Amino acid sequence: MSGKTRALTNAEKNQSESALGGARLHRALLAWFDVEKRPLPWRATSDPYAIWMSEVMSQQTRVETVIPYYEKFLTAYPTVRTLAEAPVEDVLGLWSGLGYYRRARMLHRTAQEVVARHDGAFPRDKAALESLPGIGPYTAGAVASIAFQEPASVVDGNVVRVFARLFNDDTDGRAPAGLAHFRKRADALVSADRPGDWNQALMELGATVCTPREPRCLLCPLATVCEARSAGTARDLPRLTKKAKPVAAAFDALVVAAPNRVLLAERKADGLFGGLLEPPLFDTAPTLLEAAQQARLAIGDSLGIVQHTLSHRKLSIATHRAVHVLDVMPPLPVSGAYVALHAVEWPLPKDTRVSTLARKILALALET
Ligand code: SF4
Repeated sequence: MSGKTRALTNAEKNQSESALGGARLHRALLAWFDVEKRPLPWRATSDPYAIWMSEVMSQQTRVETVIPYYEKFLTAYPTVRTLAEAPVEDVLGLWSGLGYYRRARMLHRTAQEVVARHDGAFPRDKAALESLPGIGPYTAGAVASIAFQEPASVVDGNVVRVFARLFNDDTDGRAPAGLAHFRKRADALVSADRPGDWNQALMELGATVCTPREPRCLLCPLATVCEARSAGTARDLPRLTKKAKPVAAAFDALVVAAPNRVLLAERKADGLFGGLLEPPLFDTAPTLLEAAQQARLAIGDSLGIVQHTLSHRKLSIATHRAVHVLDVMPPLPVSGAYVALHAVEWPLPKDTRVSTLARKILALALET
């Protein structure tokens, strides 16, 4: 906390909440939402499949990035059954560039479970939704409240920020106990009449007005009841324990391209970039040289270094071109991270299942 004000005790906070009055908060925030909400495509539907899709895609991803993916997924797979029946490689290909690829694999698996266990109809309550693989409390609450009007709460980073400020609450919003605390607040305040709109309104306020660095309190529908605003602590909240810094890791990548084809390695299904294709990566220079020797490759020009930061790792990839002495695609040995090698059309067709990192590496080969 900033030290500008004394933290409230729990008893005081409870008192304060009831003083604010849930009904008053509901009226103010919902009236604002009705006028100010962004016209996002998933707000024009009550189809639980489409709402679920939008919620999975929106996790850790900006709305502007999600919209084109949401639209192309619903065009390619208009129903949960069509998604369930699609090859997972195609789903990964369509997801390519959206990041956090585990979400795509889980999306596919969840769709298969909805078809197998519920004959293609999404369960209508939060508890049953949460029993599906890949659906946690956040997504279950969002689908149950938005598609089925169940008064189930939803807590994401935006909601934590709004509640922390609204109640001048310095509970750590990243620690598990702190999250549980904010979930209780959210459960206590969810609107019984318009739960889906209430949840969306809280998230919308956090995304557009009560933003992390510069809350726009002058435009806020809750400004007159916001405790952090009157205490001058809004910018100090929420309190969040620091994330660990990404750990640096270095690899060598080999781009083996013949006319119209490039050699890509398929990663194991589980783990980072599961099931995606990429130019083979080697964690040390000797393993790179050994593999090249076995495949009768001559390591050619250095193409440069690709930097890429993931949530936990900061990757630095020294990229090399390789030339095959026999001028046909060589069988590189598959290392522990990979299950197969593929000679893929080059330049890559749209929706090839490659990560943004792989695209950066291949772009070097195209540019140089
Ligand atoms: S008044 Fe300011 S700090 Fe409080 S909820 Fe609104 S935008 Fe956030």
